[in-house]
Order: sequence, then C-alpha cells, then structure tokens
Amino acid sequence: MVLENYDRITEKSSKKAGLEKEEIERRIEAKRAKLSGLISREGAAQVIAAELGISFDNETLKIEELLPSMRKVKVIGKIVNVSPVRTFKTKKGDDGKVANLFIADDTSNIKVVLWDTNHISLIENGKIAEGVVVEISNGSMRDNELHLGSFSELKITNDTIENIKTDRIFRERKISELKNSDNARIRAFIVQSFEPRFFHICPDCRKKASPDANDFVCAEHGKVAAEKRALVNIVIDDGTETIRTVAFHDNLADIGLTELENQEELLNQRENLLGREMIFFGTMRNNKVFNTPEFIIERVEPVNADLLIKELEEN
Ligand SMILES: [Zn+2]
Repeated sequence: MVLENYDRITEKSSKKAGLEKEEIERRIEAKRAKLSGLISREGAAQVIAAELGISFDNETLKIEELLPSMRKVKVIGKIVNVSPVRTFKTKKGDDGKVANLFIADDTSNIKVVLWDTNHISLIENGKIAEGVVVEISNGSMRDNELHLGSFSELKITNDTIENIKTDRIFRERKISELKNSDNARIRAFIVQSFEPRFFHICPDCRKKASPDANDFVCAEHGKVAAEKRALVNIVIDDGTETIRTVAFHDNLADIGLTELENQEELLNQRENLLGREMIFFGTMRNNKVFNTPEFIIERVEPVNADLLIKELEEN
C-alpha cells in the first residue's frame, strides 16, 4: 500500500517519456537530494513528471492517482456520502451555494466540492445521491480535495464500481508539506513530550462528561459512570520541521506510555521516547485555543513495519 501511488506516477512517467523506470527513479532521488529531503517521494515524482512535460489532463485517473495541484481532472467514482447544501454570502453580497460529496473507487476516496448551482441542483432534486456513480471532467485539485466549478462536468453514468475503498486514506507527507485537514502518514522522531492531561467520557456516547460534585454528567445521558481518559502532547520532527501532536488513550501504549498514573515511571518512559522514530498516522487540525496547527494522531506504527512493506513491494 505504501508505494502504490509513487509507483503509478513513475510508471506513467516512464511510459509517456519513453525513459526506463530506473532512470525516472534516479531523477526522483536526485531531486529529493537536491531539496535535502524536504519533499516526499510522491511529491518528487510529481515534480519530475511535470518537468518532463507529462500531463494527465483529461485522462481518466483512479482516485489514488489524483495529486494536489492537478488540473483538468477526469475521474469516475461512486458517491458514498452527500453533505447538506450550504449557502453563503459571496464578496459581491449575492447568495452562493456549496456542497460536498465523497466519492470512492477501488483505489481510494476523495472529497468533491461543488460550487456550480447546476451541479448543486442535482443534489437538491435527488438525482445525485449515495450509491450513484458519477463521471467528473475538468475538475481541479485543491490540496487533497477535488473542486468543480462552472467549467467542470458532473454526470451520472451507468458504470458499476466493485470493491470501493471507503477507509480513510493516509498519504505519505513531510511535516513541512502538511496542510489543514490533511490525512497523512509521517515518519518522524519524537523530540519532546508533555505531562498527560486527563478527562472523562460518557460510556454510551463517548463524548466528554463534566464533573458535577462526586459524579460525572453527560449532556445527553445525564449522570454516568464516566471512563477516565488521557491525552499527551508530543512534538515530532522529520528533518523538515517540527509539529505538536495530540495522542489519545489508545495510542499512548503503542507510543510507549503506559504508566500514566505513576509519576516516576512515567518520567522514565517519557525520557525513553526522546529520539524514537515512528510512523504517525493522523489528521492536521487547527488548535482553536492556541490557533496553531496540530497533528491528531490516530494510529502509530513502528518504523520497521514500514521498511518491511517497502522490501516486500520491491521484491
Ligand atoms: Zn452520553
């Protein structure tokens, strides 16, 4: 899974440019070296493709092949989710509308943002709904979203798509490349950790429960036998930048923090974390209190698992 997209770009570049795949890979690595590793392998492959004048315009691509900054995107996907149409005031003071869809194929899934009232009316009149397969042409990638304006085409097709992939997709990224709401996979070193913070959640809805005298109260379920949870802020560094992360309960043990209630043991464990390299899967968010970006960790993996997968894929 790790190198799928990178492989596809290099393969396409190789075919279209008439160069050996090894030559393309050599150029990608040279580009990365020139940029002191400040760019992911996938990002460098994209730059090389652009330098070779390779365009993916109007060629039907798999969702996994869509890259930030691509234009004239053509893709076919099954709608897995439609969000309600929202209205907003444009700069001119008119009423504007926007709607989001999620589409999936057998490789990946992506958020599609509709700005054109003709497209949006297809949602409003129920023609576009969950389960419908659509063909999109002339879309533009903005970061990791596919945006459709008035020049874009959105039509319903009779194609069927089997085995759609609806899991969240975590793309390989360097910290310096991260943008808000990116789902990313970062290989980095732990350089700092903070004291754990504790909070309580409702066992029924998993939402925060507030202390009330000797009890805990959930806004929806009233007095509950709340579960105590912890979060720890950890700073990670991948050589391009550092970023503050938030690790919750279930991931703390995988990171190496188990003695949350034992001051002395915890200090030992926190010291042992420093310099540990891991792979962090998660989502970029803006911390509303500090107005700074932070990476919400959803899963961690040891580095050797990643290397193993790479070796398996290269053989
Ligand atoms: Zn509750």
